[in-house]
Amino acid sequence: MNAGNISALKERMDYNQVNNHILKKMVSIVGEKYLITLDGDKEPYSHDETLHHKFMPAVVVKPGNTAEVSAIMKLANAEKIPLTPRGAGTGLSGGALPVCGGILLSLERFDKILEIDEENLMAVTQPAVITGQLQKAVEEKGLFYPPDPASLDSCSIGGNIAENAGGARAFKYGVTRHYLCGLEAVWPNGDISRLGGRIIKDVSGYDLMHLICGSEGTLAIITEITLRLLPKPKVQADLLIPFSSIEDAVKATNAVIRERIIPATMEFMEKKAILAAEAFLEKKAPYREAEAHLLVQLDGEAREDLQKIYERIGEIVSDYGALDVLVAEDRPSQERLWDIRRSLSEALTAKSPVREREDVVVPKSKIPQLFKELELLQKKYSMEIVSFGHIGDGNIHVNILKGESQTEKWQEILPGLLDEMFKKVVELGGTISGEHGIGYVKKKYLPLAVDAPALAMMKAVKRAIDPQNILNPEKIFL
Ligand SMILES: Cc1cc2nc3c(=O)[nH]c(=O)nc-3n(C[C@H](O)[C@H](O)[C@H](O)COP(=O)(O)OP(=O)(O)OC[C@H]3O[C@@H](n4cnc5c(N)ncnc54)[C@H](O)[C@@H]3O)c2cc1C
Repeated sequence: MNAGNISALKERMDYNQVNNHILKKMVSIVGEKYLITLDGDKEPYSHDETLHHKFMPAVVVKPGNTAEVSAIMKLANAEKIPLTPRGAGTGLSGGALPVCGGILLSLERFDKILEIDEENLMAVTQPAVITGQLQKAVEEKGLFYPPDPASLDSCSIGGNIAENAGGARAFKYGVTRHYLCGLEAVWPNGDISRLGGRIIKDVSGYDLMHLICGSEGTLAIITEITLRLLPKPKVQADLLIPFSSIEDAVKATNAVIRERIIPATMEFMEKKAILAAEAFLEKKAPYREAEAHLLVQLDGEAREDLQKIYERIGEIVSDYGALDVLVAEDRPSQERLWDIRRSLSEALTAKSPVREREDVVVPKSKIPQLFKELELLQKKYSMEIVSFGHIGDGNIHVNILKGESQTEKWQEILPGLLDEMFKKVVELGGTISGEHGIGYVKKKYLPLAVDAPALAMMKAVKRAIDPQNILNPEKIFL
């Protein structure tokens, strides 16, 4: 048991336990079929995609409508039982871990797209709808929901709102928050609010809807979501651009942006990442010896327009030492390029099943310095660090691989390495998480990124909304 788990147990003593009386009340709310109490059946709900952490809830409950969520929440609040909301469990910061035991509330039965409103360009959906399925459904109507976390085939839209998820297209289109127009939410006392709606503008009072977005399930349970849609771009082209140095790739990226060219995505992969993807996919990547690759996606209305843009990009990047510009305009070639990028996470897990996945952000101009710092940390701590990510918006996924090193050494070294890395990131004007959230695993580092008065305000907001600290305790704050 690690130190984090021990402190959670101390906290748990302040809460009441789920007893038979509470279980009976829960059965009367949702029905016996939607309550899980057996350890074997609860196991899948005891962890998410955050490695090495596992906490067993006392009970898993699967309400089927908002009234049931509200009744369960009221019961938890009255009985002082901790409650953790869970979407699809793909989180990378432990937000859905039931750290204090208690009730795990799974939204899995909220899995319907309620309406695609073509007149207002809006989608109304329940939270457990898988993000990629929502995207496909709106695309069938010629519409477009841009946020595209790499986990889009498995994560839920409710989890995306709770984490304010980003993705490769954030550079041009922004993150989940920018598409959120309406929410139905259940507060920790069980009250239900409808916030916003099928409207783009709303300055009627404090913006509670966007406060809930990114609150990692600590302020309210999301039961319905209204999202803004765009017309779907008609054409797309993808470019793979190899460079002989990371610095050249960053300079070229900045030069493209200075020309006011805004690609849908600008992804970066360093050589170590490419080699891991090659080994995993068992196929050779183009220009495998290049130190860095940019993967650029352009979208627009007409092929001729895109052609002009990528020719201009070609001229710009060749001034910054690009080794080539490979253009993919048909679907199969585009998929081949994206296979490499999409496989990176699994490829690195295959290379080192134990690894730390961070998603730091720095101003774009500081990316070369970030890579120099990572190189120094790699040498100082003798740990392999492999990075890739969204270079267009300065959000870099830093992977620290345990590899063959001893478990004790890894556990001893990692906190110091992370502390030093996060301090450097903040010194560079950045922050410790761009999309994965703070959750359970990064809370001790939050004071590095948020100053003391702001942290005190955040805690005051949490206390005001959830005075008993019932909803998703042990998250975000120490
Ligand atoms: C391979 C891989 C790639 C990834 N790539 C990206 C990426 O590119 N960009 C990105 O942003 N993230 C990425 N993620 C992280 C993860 O997919 C996102 O954080 C996603 O938004 C989580 O959604 P989920 O449904 O799985 O939520 P869960 O993991 O179930 O929960 C996440 C948090 O949201 C809360 N929550 C869930 N549903 C609700 C609800 N209805 N109401 C209130 N709170 C709720 C939970 O309590 C928890 O705190 C990736 C993960 C993996 C495994």
